[in-house]
Amino acid sequence: MTAIQVITRVLTVPGGRWEIDADLREKLCLTDDGVLHIVEGYGGNPFVLAFKDRLHRAGHEHDVEYVTPEHIKQLYHGVPVTTGSSKHYQYLTSENSTGKQDQVVKILRDATNAEASDVHFFATPNGHQLRFRVHGQLETVQSFAGEDGRPLMSSIYETMSESTGTSYRPNEKQDGRLRSEFVTQCGLFGARIATRPTLNGPWMAMRLLYDSGKAMSLDEMGYLPVQIDALTRLIHRVDGIVLLTGTTGSGKSRSIQTLLSMLLEVMDYSINLVTVEDPVEYRINGATQTPRGPKESWEDAISNMMRLDPDVGLIGEMRDIGSAVAAFQAALTGHMMWSTLHVNSAAASLQRLHDLGVEDSLVYDPGLVKGLVNQSLTRVLCDKCKVPYLRSNRIFAPDLKSRILQRCEPELVFVQGEGCEHCSYRGIINRTAIAEIIPPNLDFMRMFRERGRAEAQAFWVNEQGGITKNAHLIQRVNEGIVDPSHGERDVCPLDEDVSVIGAKA
Ligand SMILES: [Zn+2]
Repeated sequence: MTAIQVITRVLTVPGGRWEIDADLREKLCLTDDGVLHIVEGYGGNPFVLAFKDRLHRAGHEHDVEYVTPEHIKQLYHGVPVTTGSSKHYQYLTSENSTGKQDQVVKILRDATNAEASDVHFFATPNGHQLRFRVHGQLETVQSFAGEDGRPLMSSIYETMSESTGTSYRPNEKQDGRLRSEFVTQCGLFGARIATRPTLNGPWMAMRLLYDSGKAMSLDEMGYLPVQIDALTRLIHRVDGIVLLTGTTGSGKSRSIQTLLSMLLEVMDYSINLVTVEDPVEYRINGATQTPRGPKESWEDAISNMMRLDPDVGLIGEMRDIGSAVAAFQAALTGHMMWSTLHVNSAAASLQRLHDLGVEDSLVYDPGLVKGLVNQSLTRVLCDKCKVPYLRSNRIFAPDLKSRILQRCEPELVFVQGEGCEHCSYRGIINRTAIAEIIPPNLDFMRMFRERGRAEAQAFWVNEQGGITKNAHLIQRVNEGIVDPSHGERDVCPLDEDVSVIGAKA
């Protein structure tokens, strides 16, 4: 006789539709295929009879099967069991990990549909809040009372991450990555998991990495034509260093993907482009991308990379003197090196290299440092519901109003509206890059070395026609694409150039 595989759920578990107490769970179990399993000898037990009465009053049809106490236990633990008939049952209790995994996959799909960059289980005094970061802003999606969020978090860590087999320890910080089968199911390239205990309980954050595969164009990313020209010149270089800088969430990894994809295309894929990243965030078609080893220093990773015959190298991030010096060494020996730095202006990257301890003769050598790119991301207004600034009912702070008046053209400015169907009621549809690109020449470097960053920045703007992030932002505000209050929060004050380099309005 062939056994029939039946997958069903237990309804009498805690939190289930027919929840019963622990004592009664030793005597009976109701499954959603309409079978009430009762331990032999308990058919006349008053509590069992009361439960049958409860089902009867609710009109819940069921068949009774008498089973062993062991059988009941297996049902509640989700262990496959064979009944007296030809059916081979696999019962799923609500504690079963598959149910939790399905719930997590659904959450991740919702997050990717909203193009969220991060998913958080925030601990609050009352439980947990599921929050997504969409277009840079946190949105609360769902609340879990009390301990309800915890099984999801432990399920993510214990059954869905590469750390499977390691226990989730809510009172410690832990790191991990989502296993590839779940990552692919959700249309992602990867997801990093980090946990940390807080005063309110355990907190878990997941950074979602998207499998875009194909890079966006610089124009789509928000770069100005003159900036695209400057970047295009940089990708044609065969030696030197280009630094693409920005803060966390500035989109610099995505820009690197775009630029290096362009570079490979320009070079007809005839060069060896090797990366060392931690982790690999975006796929660059045609490049050999390598993750930094778990115990490998950046310095070791770079010197190993240099032995692999690269023409162009990407170093995920210059974090310490070792990695910075190794990158300069590589450039000195005739390689083209790209890297990122965590700073908030193009000129600040030279300062950072100097502070890291790289020799001035290297930092201020325009023959080595070919390009300093810095970018931020700011929110793009929904075209369908944005409101002209002059007709908005919103109350703006007096100082912001005066900056708009002095630095922008108020009649061209738009601000965030109420939201509509088109933008999922966010008022925002996307984010765009606000950037500055300095191709430092000898005069700029000399100015920087002798008179410091502000003077060099002023020289670049006033003598070389440089476009600062502030100028780029104002252009986008005047085009009605960016709400000035968002621009100030995401990028810089509208009058930053006035205060930093004395630029005129
Ligand atoms: Zn809208």
